[in-house]
Order: sequence, then structure tokens, then C-alpha cells
Amino acid sequence: MSARASSLYDLAAARSAAQRRRMEELEAAGICVFCPEHVAEHQPEPIEHTGRHWYVTKNHYPYEGTATHYLIVARLHVVSFDELPDEAGAELWSIKRRLKAELEPAALATVERSGNMLYNGGSVAHLHIHLVALEPSPSATVRFRVSAYGANDDAG
Ligand SMILES: [Zn+2]
Repeated sequence: MSARASSLYDLAAARSAAQRRRMEELEAAGICVFCPEHVAEHQPEPIEHTGRHWYVTKNHYPYEGTATHYLIVARLHVVSFDELPDEAGAELWSIKRRLKAELEPAALATVERSGNMLYNGGSVAHLHIHLVALEPSPSATVRFRVSAYGANDDAG
């Protein structure tokens, strides 16, 4: 396994210079910001709900065009959904149902990446689901990258 493949963060996935600097510092310190023991110190947004398998927090870096952007994060440091038991899937469904009822959005979308973040477009090697609430007239189309950078991309 190469040093890069064992990294906690994919620096190429950072969406700003400030975010990239923060990822570099955390990588050097060996701190995974999504592991529950690091959230209070290293995540600006508080945990709003903790279940058996997941916790819920707002994304401090909401994607352009989202009305609300939540992260549903595995409590265990895993990189793929199938490392968790089936009951984690049922709990995830329940969390999504509760957020939908609270947010009452025009529509919802979720994006979940599993496996190696270098190939799935993720930036942190810790399983998390993006849940975005959508409005009828967003400021921009919400876009998620869910693969490695292609040959014709300028980033990465
Ligand atoms: Zn972690």
C-alpha cells in the first residue's frame, strides 16, 4: 500500500485553499475529523443527533446550490457501507426520514461513496453520506464528483 493510499484525506479533492491547508495539517497530525472523538475539537458544526451506527451534523462546507447540506457519518472509522451491519442501513433510512420531515424540502438527494476515496471522489477516508435539501430555484445546480479525476479534468 502506498503512502497516498493510506492517507486520511485526498488533498486533490479540497474545494478551497483554506480547506486544503486544514486537510494537510490534520493529515500530518493523524486526525480523522469524522471519527466521533475528534468532532468537538475539529468540526465547526456540532453533532445534532447520535444513533447506534451514525451521527448527523451539518456540512461546514455546503455545496453551492443546496438549501441545507447534512452529513450522516458512520460512528466507526470505516470506508465502505458493507463494513457495517444491515441494521445500520435501517437506521440510515430512519435518519433520512426524520431529516426529510424536519426540513420539508422541495426535494432531497443523497450521495454515498464507498471504497478508496482516490477513485470515488471523496475527500475523507471515513464513510459519510451527503444529504442535501433542494429548492425549486437553486442558485446553482448541485454537483457531486463520484469518481477519480478523468484525463480531461484540470483538477487533481
Ligand atoms: Zn475516522
